[in-house]
Amino acid sequence: MSEKSHHKVIILGSGPAGLTAAVYTSRANLEPTLIHGPMPGGQLTTTTEVENYPGFPEGIMGPDLMKNMEDQAKRFGTTLTVDTITEADLKSKPISLKSDKAEYTCDALIIATGAAPRLLGLDAEKELMGYGVSTCATCDGAFFRDSIITVVGGGDSACEEALFLTKFGKKVYLVHRRDELRASKIMQDRVLAHDKIEVLWNKQVKSIDGTKKDGVKSMTLYHTGTNEEEVVETDAVFIAIGHTPNSSLFKGQLEMDENGYIVPEKNSTKTNLEGVFACGDVQDHVWRQAITAAGTGCMAAIETERWLESGEAHQDSPGY
Ligand code: NAP
Repeated sequence: MSEKSHHKVIILGSGPAGLTAAVYTSRANLEPTLIHGPMPGGQLTTTTEVENYPGFPEGIMGPDLMKNMEDQAKRFGTTLTVDTITEADLKSKPISLKSDKAEYTCDALIIATGAAPRLLGLDAEKELMGYGVSTCATCDGAFFRDSIITVVGGGDSACEEALFLTKFGKKVYLVHRRDELRASKIMQDRVLAHDKIEVLWNKQVKSIDGTKKDGVKSMTLYHTGTNEEEVVETDAVFIAIGHTPNSSLFKGQLEMDENGYIVPEKNSTKTNLEGVFACGDVQDHVWRQAITAAGTGCMAAIETERWLESGEAHQDSPGY
């Protein structure tokens, strides 16, 4: 039988949004429980140096920043629980969440489930993920010393990964489907000036060729204008083409845009359901920065506190 527990506030997700919400709600004595999956810390744990989070003039490693946030949340009494929620009834009072092993209820829910890396939709991505195909340069880059490495994408993530991978690879291809990069000017300049990086413009990956036993050997690219194909030798392919919000659990209950991003009220983290707040990348397809995620986590915590104080939470709830 699954274990049952009631909480005043549950936070789902342990990236900058969730942990900032945890710091604020725990400092407000709301004794939050933060539930996170088996890989805590969100996307910053798969990045290297974070140079643009205020307060760290020399930069800070992503995993260290997340560890600091977690320690700060724990210091004020946040309970961290590892579990994977598979069912959510956001309309019930109290709100109900279920996993394979437990049932949680809460008066207020802060959704900070973030976003997951997008894939190209190739069979090889599933077959060879972890065998030469990856979405995380920090995790897997060191396996490809003195190799030919490919990064797919033209945004800041792709540029950051390409630059990072020059530490290991003898050559790094950046495959981009257009003739200009989407990345910020500073990242573009760094990529274009790097002698190990070659940008393959107007190219899309048709297939990644290899086996689990031998890893990736090559990829077939096509020109997005002419469809002309070419086979390019490569030992690894890192996919860095953006993200999909982790919101499928709430589909049909919360208002979302066509890409699955939760749409809160304007200038607020309040969703269309009472007592349910959303912050961080699961509701942000525009800014998507650690600092903006943290900012909305703070907003969600303050709005949750005000909402609970207003007495709008169900008065018969076990939390009262
Ligand atoms: P992004 O900005 O959405 O860029 C995604 C890139 O992948 C685009 O170049 C896009 O091409 C390409 N792409 C998308 N779908 C594709 C497909 N099916 N096939 C081939 N290419 C595809 O995503 P991101 O780079 O992950 O960045 C997300 C946000 O985080 C941005 O706001 C970014 O500034 C920020 N970020 C900041 C830093 C930093 O400041 N250190 C680091 C990483 C990310 P098109 O350009 O043709 O659309």
